[in-house]
Amino acid sequence: GDHPPSVLHAFLDAAAHRPERAALRYFDGALTYRELDALSDGFARHLAARGFAPGDRLAVMLQNIPQFAIAVLGTWKAGGAVIPVNPMYKHDELAHVLFDAHAAALVCSPAAWQASVRATAAASPVRIALTASEYDLQTRDDPRALTGPRTAPGEGADDLLAAARAAAGPRPDLPLPQAGDTALVSYTSGTSGRPKGALNTHGNISFNAHRQVRLQQLPEDAVLFALAPLFHITGMVCEFASALAGGHTLALAHRFEPGVVLDAFREHRPAYTVGPATAFMALLARPDAGPADFASFRLVSSGGAPLPPAVVESFRARSGGLYLANGYGLTECTAPCATVPPGEEAPVDPVSGTLAVGVPGPGTMVRILDEAGAEVPFGEQGEIAVRGPMVVPGYLDRPAESQAALPGGELRTGDIGFMDQDGWLYVVDRKKDMINASGFKVWPREVEDVLYTHPAVREAAVVGVPDAYRGESVKAYVSLRPGEKAEPGDLVAYCRERLAAYKYPRQVEVLTELPKTASGKILRRELRAVTGQGAG
Ligand code: ATP
Repeated sequence: GDHPPSVLHAFLDAAAHRPERAALRYFDGALTYRELDALSDGFARHLAARGFAPGDRLAVMLQNIPQFAIAVLGTWKAGGAVIPVNPMYKHDELAHVLFDAHAAALVCSPAAWQASVRATAAASPVRIALTASEYDLQTRDDPRALTGPRTAPGEGADDLLAAARAAAGPRPDLPLPQAGDTALVSYTSGTSGRPKGALNTHGNISFNAHRQVRLQQLPEDAVLFALAPLFHITGMVCEFASALAGGHTLALAHRFEPGVVLDAFREHRPAYTVGPATAFMALLARPDAGPADFASFRLVSSGGAPLPPAVVESFRARSGGLYLANGYGLTECTAPCATVPPGEEAPVDPVSGTLAVGVPGPGTMVRILDEAGAEVPFGEQGEIAVRGPMVVPGYLDRPAESQAALPGGELRTGDIGFMDQDGWLYVVDRKKDMINASGFKVWPREVEDVLYTHPAVREAAVVGVPDAYRGESVKAYVSLRPGEKAEPGDLVAYCRERLAAYKYPRQVEVLTELPKTASGKILRRELRAVTGQGAG
């Protein structure tokens, strides 16, 4: 394809040709391509001087701050791979990742280091520890930077920026990454067992980043806003890698906080952003959000989580006409695998009411398979299987699980879906989330989509709960829009009017907030756990 072997190639090209363009913006601060290149050279030199060798791995446990980009580019320049880690991880989760990936180095915030990471790292393979203050660059006196004054690195760790500056000089004399080299070890819980490290190669990332650049069709001096966290594959590829691949500017705002994000929209005037539907709903729930805040956007995408059709319409109404484009992806697909082509709108399936997620991208082959692994006809449901240049070669040190998830190099996604005659792909739900009510299949998504059409409902999640008579019965959890009221009985009746008798929820519980992952995905499994404890 027409993409370089790695995003590092594209970044170096941009740094050579447009050195003075801002690569990153963070509140009032900015780093040009030249500055980001120099700082990541320095960081790579620091790592090399501390004994970090090609093939070694560095865990990045940071929010959306400039040092995230320095750490990633510096690691790649030092010939290593990055392990993106959720900064909210507790001891056990972090320890598992550090051991499983034999992490040689780690960078986190000084606060996390002091609180618990130091002890976890001390008992792990980590030899090189760094911290990155969440408050830096020219933003020191900006009260909107959220985190207060710059903190000391913490005992046993170096400050990343200070280390990069102290080691300033040409990058280590190493060949640039090849397409088949590992760029990321991305931990995903998948369908079973402990999180596994998916091996996203440089070629996987470069292919999808350049695919995004073509999809986004942005002017070169455009600003992309990082709504999704960079430690999640959606943020890493559709924000970070595609901004650098296109020679654009990436605006960061630490972490998702609706008021701060709206301020950042006003300040940076982004042309593109991508995030989960829950983030867009949270932005819309702000009374001060209006069409002017979205006027600079040319495209907004929903990524990595289901998008209810009702959210597309309320977003269009509140944003002054912007179309929120669906997109389907997985960690093992290095983020997007199906997206809505520019200028088009995804259809809604007339039978199920499901919004199409998009059409598979160039070079991407999607098949819908039955239980025996045979392809089903158009319109029929089955497991979505994907082959293409962005599919990972496997998981780290797990030959049996890699073989099971990727037979012959084709990814079995664990998602149930179907394809229509025109090539639009629809995701019905995750295979493992199916509810079996008296032998009838109920897909939570379909019930959630109905709940989202209720004017008082902000978020909805549907799970199966044990039922002595039916085996399982359908239960819904909802949160309400600010200032709205709805009784559980009314919501049950609302669904009963719109869904078959076996599908409508027998119980609805109203919560102030639904549990979500750091990437904004609603956690049905946590609601199931709550229900299991008898709290429902
Ligand atoms: P983890 O528990 O580690 O977050 P995960 O399975 O959520 O694991 P991801 O790779 O982040 O890991 O998520 C991919 C899954 O998200 C897909 O398999 C699919 O179920 C869901 N998904 C992504 N995009 C969409 C979409 N547009 N519509 C519906 N579901 C989607």
